[in-house]
Amino acid sequence: MPYDINETHDPNLKSWVESANAPGTEFPIQNLPFVQFESLETFLADDGETRVPEHYSAGVRIGDHLLDLQRCVEEGLFKDELFDALGTPFLDSMESILDADAEAWSMLRAGIVNILRKDGAVFRGNAGAKSKIILPIADCRLLPIFKKIPNYTDFYASIHHASTVGAMFRPDNALLPNYKWVPIGYHGRASSIVPSGSTITRPRGQTKADDAPAPTFGPSKLLDYELEVGFFVGRGNELGTPIHIGEAEDHILGLCLVNDWSARDFQKWEYQPLGPFLAKNFATSVSPYLVTMEALAPFRVPAYPRPAGDPAPLPHLYSERDQKLGGIDITLEVFLASKEMRERGIAPIRLSRGSFKDMYWTIAQLLTHHASNGCNMQPGDLLASGTISGPTPDSRGCLLELTWDGPGKPRKPIELPTGEKRTFLEDGDEVIMRGYCEREGFRRIGFGECRGIIAPSRA
Ligand code: MN
Repeated sequence: MPYDINETHDPNLKSWVESANAPGTEFPIQNLPFVQFESLETFLADDGETRVPEHYSAGVRIGDHLLDLQRCVEEGLFKDELFDALGTPFLDSMESILDADAEAWSMLRAGIVNILRKDGAVFRGNAGAKSKIILPIADCRLLPIFKKIPNYTDFYASIHHASTVGAMFRPDNALLPNYKWVPIGYHGRASSIVPSGSTITRPRGQTKADDAPAPTFGPSKLLDYELEVGFFVGRGNELGTPIHIGEAEDHILGLCLVNDWSARDFQKWEYQPLGPFLAKNFATSVSPYLVTMEALAPFRVPAYPRPAGDPAPLPHLYSERDQKLGGIDITLEVFLASKEMRERGIAPIRLSRGSFKDMYWTIAQLLTHHASNGCNMQPGDLLASGTISGPTPDSRGCLLELTWDGPGKPRKPIELPTGEKRTFLEDGDEVIMRGYCEREGFRRIGFGECRGIIAPSRA
């Protein structure tokens, strides 16, 4: 069930970490996204060398700082009930709290707010503890939110994306008849999920031109990004036992940004009859912050209003609360900077802006559908939404759609400030995705960034 709005969302709540109170920050005390990080503070090793410790810590972003959760535990800043609820005495990794239930996660959020709030009482008589639990973000390196993602599934939940792409690949048969009944997805590959900032090597594969008698093998010429939102599974379900729609969100920890890099030339040749394969599994970039479902409570909106004539979701994909609050209004933007733009100090240009509220299926429906046959979801599984495109041309979430100019017409390139032109990605291009939530009467919260730069293919 979507969380209720509570005192942790109060816009007047302030932190003693002053940068978290700045009006424009993405990370006020109302957000508190989880991260894993390592401190870049060096230490002198036994051999006399200076080293950076190789150590994962679980933390929370607050303003320009990170709160180290295990250090909070060591300073005795959480109540004992929290550890009973979480089922662990440690908060030294995200893995240790991964499969706790929604109530325990809510207690953890309340406990963190209690530590960070300006008017809080936890430091009474122990003010020195503040400096022990907080690190400047500049002294840390963000790591993937989970060391290992067991499984990755990608959906196709934007009807605007499905309709436009369908019109390209199948002009007479754009939206397939199953689309409005069954959330379409495919099993992606977890091993090639990479953290934001990783270089993306241009993939090599098979391509067949329409008029060519046989395919050729080589670097993709139609490399694309896909703007997506991902969600992480917390508690799993037993093999054979489905997850009911009314409980689906209790199994979801939170959201991140995802770039599902795609080779459109391989995709066109390989996708029938079994769906995407090598066009998709060479790399998927994920942002470092896990924005919790509870932090998103003020930004919940109704599920996508189905136009008259569309079928209602089947009963197992329908709940009144999900219809009323299953959507999430997250503004999502994509930026591009070519190598030349970066070298000349030219800021990235925005390619699109859309909202996650325009998805045909809610995340609860996606998860419920995935487990409806008894498939077992595992703690840390990543499920992604599919390309997020809105109803207008400037809200299209990939180049395949953005540079399409209609059936039979040549692609319309995007002109960069350097005079360079793009219909698809070139080597050296950097793609930057950003997401944030805003609503009158609440603090703005952000998702940070998901970045990746294209490197030349390797034989
Ligand atoms: Mn995708």
